[in-house]
Amino acid sequence: MQHAAAESDVVLRARLDVVRGRIAQCARRCNRAPEEITLVAVSKTHAAEAVREAWAAGARDFGENRVQETEEKLAPLRDLDLRWHLIGRLQANKARRAVKIFDLIHSIDSAALVERLERLCAEEGRESLPILVQVDLAGEATKAGAGEAELPGILATLKSCQQVRCVGLMTLPPFFDEAEQVRPYFHRLRELRDELREHGAFAAGGGTGELSMGMSHDFEVAIEEGATMVRVGTSIFGARGKA
Ligand SMILES: *Cc1c(COP(=O)(O)O)cnc(C)c1O
Repeated sequence: MQHAAAESDVVLRARLDVVRGRIAQCARRCNRAPEEITLVAVSKTHAAEAVREAWAAGARDFGENRVQETEEKLAPLRDLDLRWHLIGRLQANKARRAVKIFDLIHSIDSAALVERLERLCAEEGRESLPILVQVDLAGEATKAGAGEAELPGILATLKSCQQVRCVGLMTLPPFFDEAEQVRPYFHRLRELRDELREHGAFAAGGGTGELSMGMSHDFEVAIEEGATMVRVGTSIFGARGKA
């Protein structure tokens, strides 16, 4: 057991180093500072122990797509100072639990959800809840995210919020074998971010507007297109079982 744990630790650390190295190289290639890009290590389906190993290797931001699964990881990792990101769709009936545990929610897709979170923040005494609006740029009805046409309504609601703060946009493009094919989606998200920034959409966050885009097979393209957060699972933790 001891030996197996130590071995997986070495593998994970090596993978993390490779990903960090690729992020830094890619950033420099496009004249960006590597520090502008936050690596969110997507730990969904992986055990709390894997999160601990990644933390020991320097990771601080972790992405999960289910509230329940994240809750289960909290107790065994209580001693660690880390940030939890919700990257999966948030169901209304789990919103209160999400308010209690997540540092950043990437998957806001409706004004109704924003209103609910604002109310829950007040009830739970949470002063500030940063969120990203997830944009569905492919118009896929089955995919999570708000269509571009829905953005003005969601952003208007966000502007009236005290606790819920819009700090940027997120997208999950359709899957293509060839990473280059996702470039137009990443490019479009950046355009939207730039437009919205001019209209003060991210003022409450005090920032310039985060762009959460890019996963294991396309994060370099995302960084070239301006990503400030990349969500990387498989390249760090290895393949996921069917969960
Ligand atoms: C699972 C997931 C990721 C990570 O995907 P990998 O291909 O394993 O890097 C990123 N973003 C979202 C929204 C996900 O659900």
